[in-house]
Amino acid sequence: MMTVRLASPFRLHGKEAIKWCLFTRVKYFSCKKHLWMTGYAASSRYYSGQANVDDGTDLSKIRNIGIMAHIDAGKTTTTERMLYYSGSTRHMGDVDDGDTVTDYMPQERERGITITSAAVTFFWAGCRMNLIDTPGHVDFTVEVERALRVLDGAVAVFDASAGVEAQTLTVWRQADRYKIPRLAFLNKMDKAKASFDMSVSSIQDKLHATPLLIQLPIGHYQDFVGIIDLVTMETITWTPNKAADGKNYTRTPLSKDLGSAIWERAVEARNKLVDQLADLDDEFADVILSMEEYDPLTVSSTQIESAIRRVTLSQSAVPVLCGSALKNKGVQLLMDAIATYLPSPNERHHDFLQLYNNELCAYAFKIIHDKQRGPLVFLRIYSGTLKPQTSIYNANRNCTERISRLLGVFADDFRELRSLSAGNIAVAVGLKETITGDTLLGSTSVLNAAKRRLKRQQKHEGKKDGDQVPVLAGLDVPEPVFFCTIEAPSQAYQPALDHALDCLQREDPSLKVKVDPDTGQTILSGMGELHLEIIHDRIKKEYKLETDLGPLQISYRETTAGSAVESATIDKIIVGRHHQVTVTVEVEPMADKESLSKLTVAENVTVLPEFIEALQSGAESAFQQGPLISFPVLGTSVTIMDVKIVPGTSTAMVAACTSQSIHSALKAAGVQILEPTMNVEITTDDEGMQLVLYDLSRRRADVSNIETRQDTRVVIARTPLPEMLGYATALRSLTSGRATCSLEFSNYELMNQAEQTKAIERITGFY
Ligand code: GDP
Ligand code: MG
Repeated sequence: MMTVRLASPFRLHGKEAIKWCLFTRVKYFSCKKHLWMTGYAASSRYYSGQANVDDGTDLSKIRNIGIMAHIDAGKTTTTERMLYYSGSTRHMGDVDDGDTVTDYMPQERERGITITSAAVTFFWAGCRMNLIDTPGHVDFTVEVERALRVLDGAVAVFDASAGVEAQTLTVWRQADRYKIPRLAFLNKMDKAKASFDMSVSSIQDKLHATPLLIQLPIGHYQDFVGIIDLVTMETITWTPNKAADGKNYTRTPLSKDLGSAIWERAVEARNKLVDQLADLDDEFADVILSMEEYDPLTVSSTQIESAIRRVTLSQSAVPVLCGSALKNKGVQLLMDAIATYLPSPNERHHDFLQLYNNELCAYAFKIIHDKQRGPLVFLRIYSGTLKPQTSIYNANRNCTERISRLLGVFADDFRELRSLSAGNIAVAVGLKETITGDTLLGSTSVLNAAKRRLKRQQKHEGKKDGDQVPVLAGLDVPEPVFFCTIEAPSQAYQPALDHALDCLQREDPSLKVKVDPDTGQTILSGMGELHLEIIHDRIKKEYKLETDLGPLQISYRETTAGSAVESATIDKIIVGRHHQVTVTVEVEPMADKESLSKLTVAENVTVLPEFIEALQSGAESAFQQGPLISFPVLGTSVTIMDVKIVPGTSTAMVAACTSQSIHSALKAAGVQILEPTMNVEITTDDEGMQLVLYDLSRRRADVSNIETRQDTRVVIARTPLPEMLGYATALRSLTSGRATCSLEFSNYELMNQAEQTKAIERITGFY
């Protein structure tokens, strides 16, 4: 079999390889069995002459941006167009043909979805744009969080026929948390059901954001031919030629001659834009007030541009643009807007950067494992300069590591860098200890200097000085709600499976792996069915291991129903040493059933300091495995009422005794099961809706709203997760593919007695 070896993790075989080479016009030479692609040739598909991915770029000319959206809104298509128009690719990738640059994992190409956020660099309008493509599926929210962490600005892409959809809402909230300035791009204006007005209202109503219309569409559906630019008061039109790549377009100054309808719409919208800016921005209001004769049409476009930039950066409004990525319209204007309105790295993170005073500080936001190069750590450099062949200090892990090589990223292609300066994104090779979320510094003395500055700063602000480590905050990883067992093909392959899972976990903090202490089985927990399915698939494709996944199970929780006091005693002689301990505990339910269980020691109880930790670890292990179905125990308050420890007793015995006493107190108090419930949003048509509602009623769903968006109906409900296993597939067959759904974890809720009995039967096989 012939194999094309790329400088990247993916491989093609046989005829496919030859086709690929011919298609990309890559030179290759063949020896008997193999086609080897030279490193130069491998990257020639992607790079044009300008792509000198190196340092030295003026900080104000860098844009670290992300594209966020609901699945299928068109992120990948929009990204591909950006790469094409900027000259970074010669071929316009197409998701539907599976040949995009940014969706590069084989699973992504097959399924047409973006799983791993790929970082891509391209140049536009004098700016170097580092773009992170974020995944849209709710199972991968951690990927999105990771990407948002290092962005200075973002573009939210909407399907203009749907407006704001469930996933956009989630990502929008995340972007709010990281205070990321945004632009909105209403894509798919070429669709029959596209509605500019509806989409704008949904941004206002659902996201509670202030839309700032800086463009209007010209025409609708098949007649969508261009855009009115309200800043410059020009029309931008593309040729109706279907085969055109949209590279060329015509700018025409707006005037009454173009037809009164367009002119009137434009003037009205321009007036509104100027009004809105004057309301939101004092500096602009002053400009307007100082005009001798006020006419919105005579306000200079530069003044308007600066005002739009200020309100975007302060996040008091979101500029709205429109277009059709698929039909090659509007993407260049979106790229212009990114350069003009979104912030550069030096306009963000002031306080944090002061602590590091131009010394090296970088943040590891993503790790992938490459067969040849080992772990590749994606870094955002906040300050200082990073060079290959140097040592760095990991402030989270307190260790020093060496970076062997530094690479610039272009989707799945990498280029060697001699150094990289602040504000940029690159990949470090050679780091072995670093995991996602770590802060990397020049040396320990850099950390100590930053700590001193932080102390001084806190003193100055009158805050109590703690011994905080000034690192970038870690990631918010939601609790996994699904789990299943995974089995190696035979015992001999277990070490290989352990290695694969180690690598995958470093990459993806939302994947949890543990070994069941009773059965010795390896258990994977994740964010959803698709998440675990893709992990399974990656183990097969990337690590060449055929594993068996057990049936998908649900991560329940247990909680106390009442109060009880119980004691436990351990009295044993082990290897001539006498251990004797008695622990008495009281368990009580907490007001919030979902909060983490906690342990306190009653005031009148005195415990030697060396045993305090033992009590705590005993409690932790009791909280890990509830008495009913061995799931973690939430919402339970445990008080140590009495402890008697005979001298000579080991801490391990004290921990074991504490765990036993809590276990029996929980049993005596009675335990209930909490089940995860999910927020569900189903989009369908009229006919589909009846079927969906009937089906939901059988799934214990609580339907809270049914919204109408033009011809589509959106059902919003909350449903217990046990009822939703395999729902995506069931929904597809129920509605013959006319409905889509998104599921997101909401909270844990008590089950009723009948459901609880059924659940126990399902989990334990008997009741
Ligand atoms: P993503 O999931 O957000 O990355 O979206 P994709 O870029 O993968 O696009 C999803 C689907 O929408 C694909 O079938 C695209 O061809 C299609 N699509 C993307 N942009 C447009 C557009 O502007 N108009 C229309 N009609 N379809 C589009
Ligand atoms: Mg995509």
